[in-house]
Amino acid sequence: MLVLAGLEGGKGVPESIADHPVVFATLTAPSFGAVHRSLAKGGRHLVCRPGKASRCIHGRTRFCNVVHREGEAIVGEPICLDCYDYERAVLFNALAPELWRRVTIYSRRNLAKLYGLTQQGFNARVRLSFIKVVEYQRRGVIHFHAVARLDPIEGAGPLELNGKYLATAIEMAASQVSAPYPGGRGIARFGEQINLQTIEGDGASSRRGVAGYVAKYATKSSDDDGVLDRKIRSEVDLEFRNLTLHLRRLAETAWRLGKDPAYGDLPLRPWAHTLGFRGHWMTKSRQWSTTFKFLRAERARWQDDRRKRLAGNSVFGEVPKRYEFVGIGWRNAGEEYFAATKQREMFEVRVMLREVEFRS
Ligand SMILES: [Zn+2]
Ligand SMILES: [Zn+2]
Repeated sequence: MLVLAGLEGGKGVPESIADHPVVFATLTAPSFGAVHRSLAKGGRHLVCRPGKASRCIHGRTRFCNVVHREGEAIVGEPICLDCYDYERAVLFNALAPELWRRVTIYSRRNLAKLYGLTQQGFNARVRLSFIKVVEYQRRGVIHFHAVARLDPIEGAGPLELNGKYLATAIEMAASQVSAPYPGGRGIARFGEQINLQTIEGDGASSRRGVAGYVAKYATKSSDDDGVLDRKIRSEVDLEFRNLTLHLRRLAETAWRLGKDPAYGDLPLRPWAHTLGFRGHWMTKSRQWSTTFKFLRAERARWQDDRRKRLAGNSVFGEVPKRYEFVGIGWRNAGEEYFAATKQREMFEVRVMLREVEFRS
């Protein structure tokens, strides 16, 4: 809803917004070691990693002559668990929000340059807003899906808004930004696979498609079964989570590095269950679109109207309100389980609302 309102207007956002240029960008992580892949080209499935009899220092084959289908459990698992750079993978997840923050800054800088304006001059005439969601890839590192939009600032004089400039500015920014890994472990950067899609003018169907895509990722978790939805409390806790070897190693690495003074600044232990990532699942610029506050108010109004309508139509007229004592606590384990589930759901919804209102 939030995403779509920022793309085609409605819910308190003017409909003219649908004419503003929009870019849908996917920023990926670099490689931390060879993983099993499900490849397809021209409708044909390809072999995972074709190769000859070469072996890594752990004595394992470096190739995989199997055709994997999408969704197969092995896809995303490293060819050799010991060759895979778990530390950098976890640190990348931890640093990714910082990389994203820098992308937003550099994109504005690049746009100003492309328009031949100073930063101040650009900021006074054009506003760049973002909404972004996080997706975990099968290999346990995060991806960002972002939608960026250019809006003219009212009364600042005409300036042609250009979707190609926007795409170029983001693409450049994604390859420019870096953040140092702590402990002198080099520099974190986005991977080379950057995907950009420009939507200009009347691209109503592509706007809807993008909104649906983004909304889908806003509700996913770091693993398919939700085993990592809760914080990890101890090594024993981790032991009982029933994770794949790969995800388990990622979580273990985050847990282990979290105790290492070299990574003192990164709170990795409390975020071991998210494999090092401690940002927000969804963030947006304040100007992106309507807020959850607006949507909540709208819902409350609707419920209020409905109540009034129902009261008017009721054959009993106004429903009398009377309360009486029924009992304390739960009658059985089923009720208790139901209550606990509801409580957790409510908590998750509250957390999500808070996170969404946090601006990027
Ligand atoms: Zn394979
Ligand atoms: Zn190896």
